Amino acid sequence: MDDPGLIRVVSDPRYRDHQGPDGHPERPERLIAVEQALAEFEDRIERSVPREAEPDEILRVHERDHWDEVRQTAERARTQLDPDTYACRDSFSVARLAAGGTIDLFRSVAEGQARSGIAAVRPPGHHAENDRAMGFCLFNNVAVAARALQAECGVGKILICDWDVHHGNGTQHSFEDDPSVLYFSTHQFPYYPGTGDFGEAGRGRGEGTTVNVPMPAGCGDLEYGGVLRRILAPVARGFAPEMILISCGFDAHRDDPLASMELSESGYGAMTAIVRSLADELCGGRIAFVLEGGYSAASLMQGTRAVVSEMTSQQRGNTGEDGELAPGSSLRWIVDRVAAVHGGRYPGLGAS
Ligand SMILES: [Zn+2]
Repeated sequence: MDDPGLIRVVSDPRYRDHQGPDGHPERPERLIAVEQALAEFEDRIERSVPREAEPDEILRVHERDHWDEVRQTAERARTQLDPDTYACRDSFSVARLAAGGTIDLFRSVAEGQARSGIAAVRPPGHHAENDRAMGFCLFNNVAVAARALQAECGVGKILICDWDVHHGNGTQHSFEDDPSVLYFSTHQFPYYPGTGDFGEAGRGRGEGTTVNVPMPAGCGDLEYGGVLRRILAPVARGFAPEMILISCGFDAHRDDPLASMELSESGYGAMTAIVRSLADELCGGRIAFVLEGGYSAASLMQGTRAVVSEMTSQQRGNTGEDGELAPGSSLRWIVDRVAAVHGGRYPGLGAS
């Protein structure tokens, strides 16, 4: 790591080879929008070429039957795996490249070879359950990579912050009984996939290390910034992670065609500044991002630009306004509901 301003980006034209039917929102052009944003930072990023994840790496999270089901899709022109999820002949290979690229990027940050980075991969991963594909996702990239960090890099406690607009059911289920991985999610609710209500807080030894922040439609920069400052920050301080992973969907952007949130480019920038600051405070700056959703060119371009701009700047950017918790506001309601579930575990929850 010669230049502390450089961050690593995993990208590859092969990520465009996974294709669903015409008109499917999770389409190859998504990565063209991401590339357009990355082009503005070419002198501040270093590219790395992904490799296919090995079966043993995928099988740390997924069952063998699921691996076999995805592998067999390579034998047919098209396979429908769930109501929204398709594979073509190349999808098995591309899904392995997505997981493998994410693993290697996260490792390079864990081991200090890169200051930070973003895995600009597809298909996304956070809906994939251990035994099935779901919600455009084949293998759960962030879960597979988190397990690789623990197994191979000596990283013990990991915080996964999932700010995709959908709840990451697959990631939650992968770690809900495991106190070594804290899964934190903001998501529109009620909405697809239906999981992620306040009371879903982990099971058994993992009770308390699942933190769900379901949010009503219409939330934007103020609410997201408030949630990260007033909920994520105290939770992260209480948990004390050794590395922070961001399941980085851009579908809470106001231009996104699927969901109904109102984040702007500067909102994503402020969120990135907040999580960067938490990583600096708690885990030696070790933080890395993996692309999840985001379905308009504008949401993907602006979101990518916000994240990369913040992560490549020498000084932390603006973390946004810290408004009061106005009585009757959405933010107040959200914070009170989360505090009712988790307030006893995480000192300071609710305060900014
Ligand atoms: Zn999403």
